[in-house]
Amino acid sequence: MATPGSPTQPPVHTPPVLAWTHRLTRLGPAFFTRLHPTPVAAPRWAACNHALRTALGWPAELFDAQHLQAFAGNALLAGADPLATVYSGHQFGQWAGQLGDGRAIWLGEAASEQGPQEIQLKGAGRTPYSRGGDGRAVLRSSIREYLCSEAMHGLGIPTTRALGLVASPEPVRRETLESAAIVTRVAPSFLRFGHFEHFWAQGNTELLRTLADHAIEHHLPECHDRASLWQGNLYAALLDEVQERTARLLAQWQAVGFCHGVMNTDNMSLLGLTIDYGPFQFMDGFDPGHICNHSDHQGRYAYGRQPNVAYWNLYCLAQSLAPLIDDQDMTLQVLQGYKTLFPRHLGDAMRAKLGLTGELAPESEREGDWTLVEDLMQFMASEKVDFTLFWRQLSQAVLHRSRIANPQEADWQAVTDLVLDRPRLKAWLARYSARTGPAHGAAMGQQMLRCNPKYVLRNHLAEIAIRLAHQGDFTEIQTLHNLLQSPFDEHPGFEAYAGVPPDWASQLEISCSS
Ligand code: AMP
Ligand code: MG
Repeated sequence: MATPGSPTQPPVHTPPVLAWTHRLTRLGPAFFTRLHPTPVAAPRWAACNHALRTALGWPAELFDAQHLQAFAGNALLAGADPLATVYSGHQFGQWAGQLGDGRAIWLGEAASEQGPQEIQLKGAGRTPYSRGGDGRAVLRSSIREYLCSEAMHGLGIPTTRALGLVASPEPVRRETLESAAIVTRVAPSFLRFGHFEHFWAQGNTELLRTLADHAIEHHLPECHDRASLWQGNLYAALLDEVQERTARLLAQWQAVGFCHGVMNTDNMSLLGLTIDYGPFQFMDGFDPGHICNHSDHQGRYAYGRQPNVAYWNLYCLAQSLAPLIDDQDMTLQVLQGYKTLFPRHLGDAMRAKLGLTGELAPESEREGDWTLVEDLMQFMASEKVDFTLFWRQLSQAVLHRSRIANPQEADWQAVTDLVLDRPRLKAWLARYSARTGPAHGAAMGQQMLRCNPKYVLRNHLAEIAIRLAHQGDFTEIQTLHNLLQSPFDEHPGFEAYAGVPPDWASQLEISCSS
């Protein structure tokens, strides 16, 4: 195996196509180690995200044969400045000490039509932070990361993006022998809570300040305005901005039934992006206690616990920023914000799922609306009804009822057919109808169809794409990407992708191993 940054690998450069900025490197060597990716054998494109490339205004050459070598880690993108950053963090509630980019190599920051974007190769070989790991990622988990990044974006949920996926036959040992892959990830910044925890744990307030100032100047300049809420304290404003973004993100996850699976503080993005796709799952049957990570024996990261875990993680970030904020009461007060913001965002998201927005949701009605939401969720949990299908059918039924004169109870049949306890659901639907009025406007149904996706990346769909990819057929990745980038559209002919999982899918076990 080549050593990280081995001088025996003469970097072959691609032609210059990106305009680099590399602001992260100004932080200095305490924050990263420069090194080269480790080459892999016989790379092949498994997926090229032309939609993202076009949206960023990056040229088509990025996906040519020369760039395949660069995105495999066998050559260097012209102008790249490859490095691995150092961070620490709490894993499963325990201080884990130094972690860092153990297998992700940062190539640089390049200008794009959506502002500067950092580019990382995940699975590009060992780094000084690999801690005994091989620096690789397997094809299975890389396909999941590629597809889920784009699925989240399609759902309108903040996330790191996936520009490309390169597969190599190079063997990688996990529970069994698998093959390697490299995901090219793109985000305005890959900074994590753990980057701050690292310098806090070192007791190095000056480096902590350097990092916080970098984050504010380059990625969260809105903190300057927000500081006025906190007696001009810029670092309190930083914490406040992050807690607000995190509250919004968690509400969005909960509203689509997304379980992250490994919400360690090193997997929490400072920008409030979904990051580090491992054993994640979009729930099939609704169960608030659902644990998607087979290695999470205590259920620390169960679906229903995610919002509280996010708060716990924000507490760790707050502790790290405390030396900069330098006012304990203020720090605690900033954190309090999450306790009102998260429920507010979740309430907004759930009411939108029920179509109770705009004119249908005057301020005075809100309390009753939340009871309506809670009662429905309790019922859905008792039935373990398919989360995605239920909301989609409800939206369709509302639209259908808006098109017929004098709709009856029977016109809810597509929804009531999904459950066993129909009288209980009918009673709830009667309350819902009373809330919305007898004639649901077509606009309400349309709006619900824009909030309740038809297509999510169910585990079994990813699994089918993975099995085909292992046979050298990458077409299913593209098919899924096409559906998931517009998950609210009907996509006639692809209904099977919106159905409940087949029986074999219940055997799927997704662990941290990736
Ligand atoms: P994760 O739980 O996947 O977010 O990873 C936690 C830490 O382990 C991070 O520092 C990763 O970079 C590192 N890591 C995970 N898998 C590997 C691997 N195969 N080789 C090296 N480092 C890894
Ligand atoms: Mg991670």
